[in-house]
Amino acid sequence: MSDKNSPSLPGCDDFNPNTLQVEHARNKILASLNPPADTEQLTIRDALNRVLANPIKSTIDVPSHTNAAMDGYAISGKDIPVTGTKRLTIVGTVMAGRPLDIRIAPGECARIMTGGKIPAGADTVIMQEHVQRDDEKVIRISPGHQTGQNVRQAGEDLSKDHMVFQSGKRLTPADLGMLASMGIAEVSVFKRVKVIFFSTGDELCNVGQGLKDGQIYDSNRYTLYGMLRRLDVDFIDMGIIPDQRDCVENAFQRATAEADVLVTTGGVSVGEADFVKETLEKLGHIGFWKIAMKPGRPLAFGQVGHCQFFGLPGNPVSAMVTFYQFVQPALLRMMGIADVAPKYLYLRSETTLKKRAGRLEFQRGIIHHINGETVVRATGAQGSGILRSMSEANCFIELPAEIEKIDAGERVKVQPFADMI
Ligand code: AMP
Ligand code: MG
Repeated sequence: MSDKNSPSLPGCDDFNPNTLQVEHARNKILASLNPPADTEQLTIRDALNRVLANPIKSTIDVPSHTNAAMDGYAISGKDIPVTGTKRLTIVGTVMAGRPLDIRIAPGECARIMTGGKIPAGADTVIMQEHVQRDDEKVIRISPGHQTGQNVRQAGEDLSKDHMVFQSGKRLTPADLGMLASMGIAEVSVFKRVKVIFFSTGDELCNVGQGLKDGQIYDSNRYTLYGMLRRLDVDFIDMGIIPDQRDCVENAFQRATAEADVLVTTGGVSVGEADFVKETLEKLGHIGFWKIAMKPGRPLAFGQVGHCQFFGLPGNPVSAMVTFYQFVQPALLRMMGIADVAPKYLYLRSETTLKKRAGRLEFQRGIIHHINGETVVRATGAQGSGILRSMSEANCFIELPAEIEKIDAGERVKVQPFADMI
């Protein structure tokens, strides 16, 4: 009986069919995670894709000395003629890594190679193509050059004591180069998150074995493997766990004792394989959520001891969609990254898109180019069992719950999930 004066139950709405929105569910998950604590010291090569545990300040100027950006002649800008040409005497040659301990006086210059240290008295480099060489020792320059041209100033890339990276930065190839340019050989990063996963379902067969009547091959463990490998986490594949109470309980106990995160697929639909629910409720704090999304409506999420648990739906597309929407942001946050929400583009749809009103829909799409414009089109059949739709796609087209139709040419919200090459 409902009574408007009775206290409302916190979180109660979440368990009503269709009331937990995708973003709300993602935020609930992120709010329940602890920031990473364990760190390790790694050489910068080993730190690629890892997340910095400490901020990094530059200890030196990069470049450390003012140097030539071109092959040519180092001169004082005061020697650039206003009219006519000016003759300058060459007093030495500066190679990269071989500075010259000389001072360029008025009327003098030094031959200099790219990266060579600008000698005292000079502040400008004239490209060798822009001078006339009168003889071995003399060049002639014309008007029109600017003082300071073709010179890279000390510290113009990074200046000493400048904050280069905040902690929480995931290191890219360019970042490794930046660290190296400052002479930093090792950094402190957060330890890898450890993920265990297994599939549930009596109908599942391992690749390499013959299919029996009524069986299907387990594909989810391979899509999970691929997505986890790309995230650069540690992971263990525990195989297929049969729909039997003791097997399931055993698997959950082993996995949750060992890992930071357990991901399973299958067996989270309503009324199905009740002992999965029973087991989870016995072992930890798990919510069985109905999310207003398509595909991927059922999702189990919670904790068993210190282990975060994600029970993804079994349908191959649903498992991948829910991984990208919920598990990936959670893993990124556990790695130490602050901004983990999916990133979007807004692109014109090449074709008409249709859906039923009611749930946020993740149609599988292909971002591509037509006549110089980047557009998106849906892959073919969109059933939650049609894994080909994910394989052909490079993005989700996120269609709002209330929408029933998008006309060709309208802009849609697009979430890329794959490389564009
Ligand atoms: P469930 O979520 O367990 O009800 O499974 C939903 C659908 O996904 C069923 O048709 C299952 O056979 C299928 N399915 C479940 N797990 C897997 C898996 N690991 N690989 C491929 N299909 C699966
Ligand atoms: Mg099942």
